[in-house]
Amino acid sequence: MKLVETLAEARDLRSGVTGLVPTMGYFHEGHLSLMSAARAECDTVLVSLFVNPLQFGPGEDLDRYPRDLERDSQLAEAEGVDVLFAPALREMYPDQPRTRVSVASLASGLSGRARPGHFEGMATVVAKLFAGLQAERAYLGRKDAQQLAVVRRMAADLSFPIEVIGCPIVREQDGLALSSRNVYLSPEERRAATALSRGLMLASDAAAAGETSGAALEEAAMAEMGAEPLVEPEYAELTEAEEVTRLPRLDRPCFLEVAARVGSARLIDNVHFLPHDDLLMPDRGVRLSAPSLLYREVS
Ligand code: AMP
Repeated sequence: MKLVETLAEARDLRSGVTGLVPTMGYFHEGHLSLMSAARAECDTVLVSLFVNPLQFGPGEDLDRYPRDLERDSQLAEAEGVDVLFAPALREMYPDQPRTRVSVASLASGLSGRARPGHFEGMATVVAKLFAGLQAERAYLGRKDAQQLAVVRRMAADLSFPIEVIGCPIVREQDGLALSSRNVYLSPEERRAATALSRGLMLASDAAAAGETSGAALEEAAMAEMGAEPLVEPEYAELTEAEEVTRLPRLDRPCFLEVAARVGSARLIDNVHFLPHDDLLMPDRGVRLSAPSLLYREVS
């Protein structure tokens, strides 16, 4: 595996079909699943690792976001990644950028309400990665469903010749969706945080049993989160997957997203409802069979 710091070096190392996995690092099995999907389908696997200041608001966790390039290099190499592109700030933003990419309406709901400017900062850096790295495919997690919708629409609107591929959510054994931010949680908060996925599983059970009311599904998830004293629920919203608009009824492809504060972490999770033979089936993601590597030394 080659570790490079410039867009030009990373671009020059491509051959055949290149799959890009954009990340902010501190890898867990969710990231590794994207690398593995890219490895299975592409000739060159290129992973970008950049904690993008543009997508953090004032008072958010930019300064304490977990970073460990040595650890990430080992994990990426073991996953068969060809190129790890880990630029310094000056490579991505040599000058104060004056251009921003904003994807109207898709970015204003859900996390966009709590994090003004977040999706604009994210879409701007992803557009730079798409332009500068010229991969044919990009692999993103459905964990960040709104991000996936924004990136898909941005790539289509700006005519980037890239296919954006959404991959399933990877969960811990007890259901908690993997996130680099889970390292902020104390042991008690870590246990309480399962209320998000528990709420989603209850709601998707109700949907599988025939419930189609958006309000009922949202209430089921909110109630489960609200019963947990260490969890401060922000929302549960049934959301149309492409336009990211609230859906009153489960009658088309969509996702139920929850957001909550647990201690100092803001966590999000979702269940997608995907079409299968004229039916909408909940996709609950995949569960690890052992504790995540987030909590152990990597060597
Ligand atoms: P991040 O480093 O958190 O910005 O995430 C990089 C990519 O990994 C994004 O496309 C995320 O959606 C994806 N990702 C993060 N957590 C998970 C997860 N638990 N399962 C699947 N993909 C994930």
